[in-house]
Amino acid sequence: MAARCASAVNAGSLERHLLEKYGEPNPEALVESALEHAKILQDHDFHEFKISVKASDVFMAVAAYTQLAEVCDHPLHIGITEAGGRRTGTVKSGSGLGNLLWAGIGDTVRVSLSAEPEEEVLVGWELLKSLGIRHRGVRIISCPSCARQGFNVIETVQTLEEAARAYRDANQRFSIIGCVVNAPARR
Ligand code: SF4
Repeated sequence: MAARCASAVNAGSLERHLLEKYGEPNPEALVESALEHAKILQDHDFHEFKISVKASDVFMAVAAYTQLAEVCDHPLHIGITEAGGRRTGTVKSGSGLGNLLWAGIGDTVRVSLSAEPEEEVLVGWELLKSLGIRHRGVRIISCPSCARQGFNVIETVQTLEEAARAYRDANQRFSIIGCVVNAPARR
């Protein structure tokens, strides 16, 4: 059954007794806090929840989620909190969440960007697609910037990506290749 609430622990707002015990936010403190909150819910006969142990530090968040997955079976809501702007936050989220999802950890995902909420959803969607967890949507394979390109690949890909957003349920793959070096005809 789907979790109906989240027990959310954040490295920036750990309880005082855990900060005194551990000296600073760390994965062990996050896990202990999460388990304490889970126990409170279970003591009140509430079992339909998921847990998050978010941190802005990628290493701390990944370590905390990894440790938590080892000691409990609760569904985990994974995220790298306060990850940053569109570019830096996307890279941090991709590194952290990709690492966790690759290891089979995580039941729901939140991408936290200082950007429009739609961007967070798109980044999360692309992350799941890149890991083969979601297959719906248009996947685009394209050249990097390159002097051999015979047409404007960057503009073409931008246009295609914009258009592809309207086809989230499609299961299509496009290759935008700028010259014959790696073109399908050469394979
Ligand atoms: S396929 Fe051609 S245009 Fe694309 S990266 Fe390779 S050499 Fe450059």
